[in-house]
Amino acid sequence: MRILITGGAGFIGSAVIRHLLLNTNHEVINIDKLTYAGNLESLKQIEKSNKYFLEVFDICNRQLLEKAFNKYKPQIVMHLAAESHVDRSVDNPNDFIQTNIFGTFQLLEVSRKFWNSLDLVKRKEFRFHHVSTDEVYGDLRNLESLFTEDTPYNPSSPYSASKASADHLVRAWHKTYELPTVITNCSNNYGPFHFPEKLIPLMIIKSIQGNNLPVYGNGNQIRDWLYVEDHAKALIKVAMGGSIGETYNIGGKSAISNIEVVKSICHLLDEFSPNHPKGISSYDELIIHVDDRPGHDLKY
Ligand code: NAD
Repeated sequence: MRILITGGAGFIGSAVIRHLLLNTNHEVINIDKLTYAGNLESLKQIEKSNKYFLEVFDICNRQLLEKAFNKYKPQIVMHLAAESHVDRSVDNPNDFIQTNIFGTFQLLEVSRKFWNSLDLVKRKEFRFHHVSTDEVYGDLRNLESLFTEDTPYNPSSPYSASKASADHLVRAWHKTYELPTVITNCSNNYGPFHFPEKLIPLMIIKSIQGNNLPVYGNGNQIRDWLYVEDHAKALIKVAMGGSIGETYNIGGKSAISNIEVVKSICHLLDEFSPNHPKGISSYDELIIHVDDRPGHDLKY
């Protein structure tokens, strides 16, 4: 199959592309603007494959999107391109609205036009898979419960609100135009090529450098974590075999508080990197608590 992936130079998109090109015969077209979050090092293993095609441009550019669709004629679209860092969305929401909402709209419109141009057999094969987040559901007040696909949307940050908007657009394009779509909402990912500003790599790097480990508020915010390569496999499964119009939640059933994550990292580093920076005997002495982020969800 020919799979067009947006945001394939990012953390999760690159895991999907590595998995597809190292384990299957599918062809992959990667459309990525290469923002600060795009990292071509994550694709070094597969960049020379004759089944891999990279197109560097912004998904908000409809003309370039149409050109790419006409050139490659994809059978599946997996849409991962997004602004994804919550803290950045609080400081500057503009790019989040632009890429996550307007970019998704442009991609839906180009996909719809392309899908309408196909013959019946190819129209039946085509899938538009939107990759989203569990943050669209907002704060899970009952700490014992889990989100389901029927949990009402209640986003808290500009990031999650922009992703929720994109989810709604995708659903509307399915209901109104019958575009064959699937949506997945996943919890926090961790693993190789995670951007260093995210919690786990940030804490590892700061510990090794002997810098303070800033934890928001009391650190009791609970997140579910999933290994990125497991997420990549789940995404491929849904893109290939998911029921049209369906939403699938994806999680690791590994909910843990932020402070526990940071302490675990410290204790693992005590074991694996025992040459502590001057003045401390355990990395957990570097933990400090800083003002909580506005709108910070307690659990998702
Ligand atoms: P990321 O920030 O690591 O990567 C995003 C990629 O999209 C980058 O390569 C970037 O260059 C590209 N991009 C951004 N704006 C673009 C634009 N306008 N045009 C073209 N390319 C653009 O993100 P990620 O962590 O890999 O997340 C991928 C998707 O999965 C996102 O949609 C995110 O909302 C979702 N998601 C992420 C997580 C997580 O824990 N990281 C969890 C659930 C869902």
